[in-house]
Amino acid sequence: MSRMTEPEVLSALEDAHAILAGHFRLTSGRHSDRYVQCARVLEDPALVTKLAHAIVGRLGERRVDLVAAPAVGGIMIGFAVAQALGVKFIFSEREKGVMTFRRGFEVPKGARVLVVEDVVTTGGSVAEVVELVRCAGGVPVAVAALIDRGGPKSFDVELLPLLRLQVESWEAESCGLCASGVPLYAPGSRALTK
Ligand code: ZN
Repeated sequence: MSRMTEPEVLSALEDAHAILAGHFRLTSGRHSDRYVQCARVLEDPALVTKLAHAIVGRLGERRVDLVAAPAVGGIMIGFAVAQALGVKFIFSEREKGVMTFRRGFEVPKGARVLVVEDVVTTGGSVAEVVELVRCAGGVPVAVAALIDRGGPKSFDVELLPLLRLQVESWEAESCGLCASGVPLYAPGSRALTK
């Protein structure tokens, strides 16, 4: 079982370009010196497996019968965690805006369910999965995530993040990086400074 410390997780995610350093315009319009693009982890399947084992290592004595994740972000890491645990995996998705288990996915009554997500901020989607699990008669054991971006959460289950990463942002008008003439990148841009 691989045990990864938070600095090790941060370093691995930076190496995978899942966490970028530079000068970014976020979707909110605010500027930041950090950007999280967690999907980049998927370019390295061995890293996904390693992170999944690290998540399993954080579970301690908690018993898990099933892993559930919200599409799209949670699917790959959720699958990898289920594989590491040797349990089944299901994912939820939105149908006309409502989070639901489609494709015949079911939560057995009484199943102890670990909800897995890549990045959790307020955890809106995670909260919906937690409620779906409860409505189906399952028991949400905990929420595991690669990154907790901080702030209050909209779910009432224990959060087990591999990394806590508070990404600071500020108004463009008061941006020191702009004042220093550091090139600004919008998310998705290829030209990023490390
Ligand atoms: Zn700026």
